[in-house]
Amino acid sequence: SKLAAGLSKTRNNIVSGMDSIFSRFTSIDEEFFEEIEEILIMGDIGINATAKIIEELKANIKENKIKEPSQCKEMLISSIKNQMRPDENAYDFEDKKTVLLVIGVNGVGKTTSVGKLAGIYKSQGKRVLIAAADTFRAAAVEQLTEWAGRAGVEIVSGQEGSDPAAVIFDALSAAKSRNVDILICDTAGRLHNKKNLMEELRKIDRVIEREYPGATRENMVVLDGTTGQNALAQARQFKEVMDVTGIILTKLDGTAKGGIAIAIQAELGIPVKYIGIGEKIEDLQKFDSDAFVDALFS
Ligand code: GDP
Repeated sequence: SKLAAGLSKTRNNIVSGMDSIFSRFTSIDEEFFEEIEEILIMGDIGINATAKIIEELKANIKENKIKEPSQCKEMLISSIKNQMRPDENAYDFEDKKTVLLVIGVNGVGKTTSVGKLAGIYKSQGKRVLIAAADTFRAAAVEQLTEWAGRAGVEIVSGQEGSDPAAVIFDALSAAKSRNVDILICDTAGRLHNKKNLMEELRKIDRVIEREYPGATRENMVVLDGTTGQNALAQARQFKEVMDVTGIILTKLDGTAKGGIAIAIQAELGIPVKYIGIGEKIEDLQKFDSDAFVDALFS
């Protein structure tokens, strides 16, 4: 599948390591569990999530009186899947008017993801509008205008250096008067100045609450999957600043660190909603945790 192909780098490491364990070991002992643990940690699945997975695996083996290492593979896969629940389908916005803020540090694939999301919702027959509120980086508006063209949606943008909240204000007015279903807002990505970013996001939040009180809110953080544990740290930082409702994990096609999707969901409890597996408009997929685990482990 396209998913398995996109995840091939992560998959190769994990699958070859696991297959080697299941064929080498003749009995289920502490060393067997240690080697599985090592592969999961090397696969960026995270220390806490890995500990829980191993604990569940051990309990299942005991309960089912399993003796053969080869019989443990399916159990391991289902333990990993269990760690990733709950996995609500909050991305289907149904008929509600939605304001989707897209947040993330520069370079993670934020602009690209805004463009891809616009394409997805447009193809579902929804009325989509993009707000280019990353007024800090001049190229961001240009880049986003190109994406809007590709997706066939309209865009509202402000002057370079203008107040992002003012761009959001204009975009909200446009969204209401044009009966837009989903307003997707790109925002500036300066986490190095956490206080400023927090204030900027709070201001944007106030503007949305005041101007569009009934709208469904989604705050999605974009993370670069190639950065592994750093992505996890960034997600934690954004979670401190705001109510993060989902993660978009990009660039999984170019990395062996795809297991980070499992860590984010299991350790932070924030659902990964979309994954990026390429640079084209169709390369953003809804995240299905079971399909993801199957693509990585079998
Ligand atoms: P921003 O600074 O966060 O807005 O990042 P951009 O959207 O400009 O993306 C930075 C680079 O990452 C661009 O070259 C994108 O084409 C690339 N990119 C974004 N998403 C993906 C992805 O899922 N896979 C790959 N391979 N590249 C991506």
